[in-house]
Amino acid sequence: MDSFTYRNGVLFAENVDVHIIAEQVGTPVYIYSKTTFLDHLSKIQKAYAALDTTICYSIKACGNIHILRILTEAGSGFDIVSGGELFRARKAGADVSKIVYAGTGKTDTEIIEALHAEIAYFNIESEAELENLIRLTKQEGKSARAALRVNPDIDPGTHRHITTGVKETKFGVDIERSQQVFAKYTGNGAVDLCAIHVHLGSGGKTIDPYVQAVKKILDLIDTLRHQGHRIETLDLGGGYGADYESDTVPSATDYATGLVPLLKGKDLKLILEPGKSIIANAGILLTQTLYTKTGGSKKFVIVDAGMNDLIRPALYNAFHFLWPAKVTNAFVPPIRRQDLTIQGTEIVDIVGPICEGADFFAKDRALPPMQRDDLLAIFTAGAYGFTMASNYNARPMSAEVLVDGDTFTVIRRRQSYDDLIALEK
Ligand SMILES: *Cc1c(COP(=O)(O)O)cnc(C)c1O
Repeated sequence: MDSFTYRNGVLFAENVDVHIIAEQVGTPVYIYSKTTFLDHLSKIQKAYAALDTTICYSIKACGNIHILRILTEAGSGFDIVSGGELFRARKAGADVSKIVYAGTGKTDTEIIEALHAEIAYFNIESEAELENLIRLTKQEGKSARAALRVNPDIDPGTHRHITTGVKETKFGVDIERSQQVFAKYTGNGAVDLCAIHVHLGSGGKTIDPYVQAVKKILDLIDTLRHQGHRIETLDLGGGYGADYESDTVPSATDYATGLVPLLKGKDLKLILEPGKSIIANAGILLTQTLYTKTGGSKKFVIVDAGMNDLIRPALYNAFHFLWPAKVTNAFVPPIRRQDLTIQGTEIVDIVGPICEGADFFAKDRALPPMQRDDLLAIFTAGAYGFTMASNYNARPMSAEVLVDGDTFTVIRRRQSYDDLIALEK
């Protein structure tokens, strides 16, 4: 479910006509729906209520501090992957006891910042990192808790760049090796190694990989406990499906139905790190058509957003549904799917203004005829959209707008040309 809907052929974000936002804020612009992401968060909270569960929203999906503040107020903690994200979380008033810190390459400075912030868990990706954490924890006179990131060797069956739970990735420690790690580092006097972390990677379309992973990890936890180790928490990571296409991924309830019975009565606290399943379809990127042209047998629609604004199609060959923000009733899309066919559409490539062949949003896509100045909505752009934006081609980053019912707020202004050179001498 999301709150971007057509009313008489006009796209609304909650109760706001997106044309009004474009007029006042310009394009390209990210538009988020508060109702949508709060609804997703609350569905996850309810689905796992039978367990002692902490939701740690993954900041790297979308880190605007206005949004982080709203999520904090709704009870969310945060999954961070850098010192910068820790800074964002704290600026947003986060409850530090609900912050978990993952990442293969934490620097000493970042680790020390997180030690002093007294976050909940360091999610440890290698023995070398754990040794360094122990050293720094002693040096700073602090204590810390750590979860060992275990690699259950399960492939969620998605793009190779977003698969992280198989052996041949840089993430985590092999499940076979993990017992030795616990044996070697338990009782080190500084870091309490008392949790297991897994993150399978993003975008699986069934709950099976999660069920398999939990079964393998529960076996591991049993073994570790028999060996005398105390395991208090299982952090199941993120990667839960998001609605890039309508009704094609499991809901929070579907995941919970498979997972909660496995975890019930195991004396484990649960942490979940959802990113895109909370924020992806709570955001659209609204862009304006600049030109249309024909090249050979191809027709192109050139828009004012580029891969610097939204890189997922170029980076992951990701699918985004996109559609004009104003259409006749015959063209109102009944569903957002790759295979949507509507009479009267034409096949086009939708591309940006950047000097790169990879600067596209969709290829060979059926769209209603587009004209100069028409607004086009790129749906499900809330996750890994703005957070991956850059200034490539000296393009100022777009504004971010939050819609709440009948009103909207600019939660990050559009960059100016002066912003582009502000740090240069
Ligand atoms: C990226 C990431 C997440 C969030 O993934 P989503 O696919 O956005 O849910 C959670 N945990 C870790 C460790 C990550 O790297």
